Amino acid sequence: MADAPQPPANDDRLRHALRQTLESLAGAGVRQLPSGVAVAQEWREAAKQRPAPVAATETTAAPPVSVSTTSPSAERPLPPPKPRPTAPYPQAASPALAGDVSTAKTLKVLAEEVAACTLCYELASTRTQTVFGVGDPQARLVFLGEAPGADEDQQGEPFVGKAGQLLNKILEACRLRREDVYILNILKCRPPGNRNPLPEEAKNCRRFLNRQLQLINPEFICCLGSVAAQNLLGTTETIGKLRGRVHQFQGVKVVCTYHPAYLLRTPSAKKQTWEDMKLLMRELGTPVD
Ligand code: SF4
Repeated sequence: MADAPQPPANDDRLRHALRQTLESLAGAGVRQLPSGVAVAQEWREAAKQRPAPVAATETTAAPPVSVSTTSPSAERPLPPPKPRPTAPYPQAASPALAGDVSTAKTLKVLAEEVAACTLCYELASTRTQTVFGVGDPQARLVFLGEAPGADEDQQGEPFVGKAGQLLNKILEACRLRREDVYILNILKCRPPGNRNPLPEEAKNCRRFLNRQLQLINPEFICCLGSVAAQNLLGTTETIGKLRGRVHQFQGVKVVCTYHPAYLLRTPSAKKQTWEDMKLLMRELGTPVD
């Protein structure tokens, strides 16, 4: 690499300034100069005013020191502010924390969490799939059952078997469509042999149920059967005693009635269920005969 051009030493500054001045004058067409003393004085003044070239190495002469009454910070503009660091992580992964994310999307994320859940070893190891829930994410009315059966376990949707078909008929009689309400269960996994959920399993799955209800935020819950009613309301009262009146669960009105599977086995109980549905529909403000 070629050496950087060396600036003139102090004694050479005069010659350097003289040469530049002569070149400038010649370029301007000047062919005659004034007397030597006057010219020399002029060159000296020019040399004093002309700043030395910027040092290229540490060994070159220091540039002239400028005297200033202002502080360095006032003399130099402040450097522009550094750009604000961006978050080292993406925005909250849980859409529940973001106000602009819809309930449906949040429920979908929760459903994916449920699908990966293995808290109940026996259920997680025997299920075909989890059964999260179905319906309008902003429904006024939620139907709460017990747990998926064989059909639900196969199809991944609650109340799709014979009991589900009966529930559809009850909804029709109430002038409701399945897609107008939300249907879910206490448990998201099928207990083997359709046995009742164990207390431990209901406890494990409660956080998912609570989150679903929190997101859907219904005005009414209809508990289908004793398992749903007792778990939701935290009581040991029988369904026979719980039905026929309105309960409260965290500000939500709750009506309890028999499970459709029970009605299939005990058709005589349909009359009482119909009374419960009429009570529910009156509370909803859309009474049925
Ligand atoms: S029943 Fe609920 S808590 Fe138990 S494994 Fe299934 S999803 Fe998880």
